[in-house]
Amino acid sequence: MTEKELICVNCPMGCRVKVQLDGDKVISVSGNSCIRGKTYAEKECVRPERILTTTVKVEGGTHRVLPVITDKEIPLDMIFDAMEVIKKVSVSAPVSEGQVVVDNILDSGASVIASRSMNKA
Ligand code: SF4
Repeated sequence: MTEKELICVNCPMGCRVKVQLDGDKVISVSGNSCIRGKTYAEKECVRPERILTTTVKVEGGTHRVLPVITDKEIPLDMIFDAMEVIKKVSVSAPVSEGQVVVDNILDSGASVIASRSMNKA
């Protein structure tokens, strides 16, 4: 049995949450003031996820790169593979904010989308 202590990042309260684990199995969660803290701590201990933000090359735009973001969290252990996919991508201007740049990246269920618009140069 192991115990992990996390700080919940879901709101400014920053509760200190303790998670008792038996291998990868969550036995108990304590210290959270609401259910969101429990869900966060369980996910963080078993398979953490993150929003990925980066840039892709853009051709014919007012800038050389376009900021992009995943439209939902993806497993942290997929981040490096996702970056390898994104590194090979380029888009052509004009681009609209929210435009899908990579659909369902690595079958994660998340798409990489433009986080801003960009006009043609
Ligand atoms: S457990 Fe609930 S109250 Fe505490 S930091 Fe997380 S979201 Fe906020």
